[in-house]
Amino acid sequence: MFSVLMEPDKSVSSSIRSTPYPVLRSENLRRWFLQQEADLFRYRFSQQLSGSVRKFLDLNDLHYTSILPNEKVELKTQLINSTFGMKELFDTQDFYKVPFTDALDLVRGRKIFLRHGLAYIPHNDLVSIVLNDFRTSLSRALAVTARGLPVIQEDERLQPLLKHLSYAYIGQDYSVQKNVGNISLDQLDSLATRSFPLCMRSLHYALRDQHHLRHGGRLQYGLFLKGLGLSLEQALTFWRTEFARGSIDPEKFEKGYAYNIRHAYGKEGKRTDYTPYSCMKIIQTNTPGPGDHHGCPFRHTDADLLRQRLQSHRLSSSEINQVMEYVKGMHYQLACQKYFEFTHKVEDGAFGLSHPNQYFEESQKLLSGGQHAKRENSGEVQKPVVAPVTMPQSSHPAQSSESQSTQLSASQVEEQELLEECFANGVVLRFVKGTVELG
Ligand code: SF4
Repeated sequence: MFSVLMEPDKSVSSSIRSTPYPVLRSENLRRWFLQQEADLFRYRFSQQLSGSVRKFLDLNDLHYTSILPNEKVELKTQLINSTFGMKELFDTQDFYKVPFTDALDLVRGRKIFLRHGLAYIPHNDLVSIVLNDFRTSLSRALAVTARGLPVIQEDERLQPLLKHLSYAYIGQDYSVQKNVGNISLDQLDSLATRSFPLCMRSLHYALRDQHHLRHGGRLQYGLFLKGLGLSLEQALTFWRTEFARGSIDPEKFEKGYAYNIRHAYGKEGKRTDYTPYSCMKIIQTNTPGPGDHHGCPFRHTDADLLRQRLQSHRLSSSEINQVMEYVKGMHYQLACQKYFEFTHKVEDGAFGLSHPNQYFEESQKLLSGGQHAKRENSGEVQKPVVAPVTMPQSSHPAQSSESQSTQLSASQVEEQELLEECFANGVVLRFVKGTVELG
């Protein structure tokens, strides 16, 4: 009901329409979802003009009675004293009388006048009570839908979709290799320093340092490079050359690793053209273990270690604190976006980060003086990086204990293919009054 007026626009879209399923699985996730939706609702409501607020209240049958003029005059002193900044606004404000339990936010903040169990809400704070109704309504809807979940889960046709829905990505498709041939292997070191997000930068330098990456790292980084435009031949050369600096000679590489690379490019198995991983997928799945370098550093790296890394990337203490605030609040993509802004010296990245390849593209746009450059502190616009690469020689060819997993197991291949098939066409589930619609 509440979405009638608060129609999502492109810049602020609600997740309730497309992906409610994952949050239904646990009470914690439901609570989290409710909080995000409430924040979004508050924001949208605050953007409405008074005419559309009135229309919204009418449409949703939300009738709050304003107090009569004589009561307003009688309580003038109390109403002004109990609400900050009300003196100047008093004459133009309507006040609404509601049970204090409907405005707990305002009561908790001691922002309103209370009498006989009733709260006197100025029109400007109306959002608090509307939000209360919104929460109640959404909470009830989530509970009802969650009760129907076991029935939905029994349907075998839906199981694969439901399983991977929580990290479905519906942004730009980076599997389309539109940039093939645009970058050379010589550029990679330089690009990693300037334009790779922290996750890919870590993988790149781990590979350069150890001349090997375990399966999760190879998959995450290999697909990212593919999205950058590395052709299959370039990818094979890149991995073969780097592994040869360690203890994997070309023959061993052909037997154990080349298949996986060709597979990722859709040249083996079911010939699926695999998509580079989105932030959501990296953050939510395949948690890295000891010896792994994949994952999202903002999500998977110990806080002290992350601080050190940010320091080594020349962020100031105050910048590090701002990034860590987001990490603490579990807003990993926002933390990464802040990192982007600090390392590119812009005030506002002007994009919503959801994919490592998007990070790269935005960085390159900025460095070439592209449209998103809001402000360059230095006043000097850097060019996209094309620097010669010196391949470091092996310092410690430490190989992981992963010898048995040099090639994808059949089940890993199957799972990967299943996942890609499910989402290759942007399949979305919607829950409408207890039924499931495929979109
Ligand atoms: Fe990489 Fe995304 Fe994490 Fe940034 S937020 S480090 S792009 S996974």
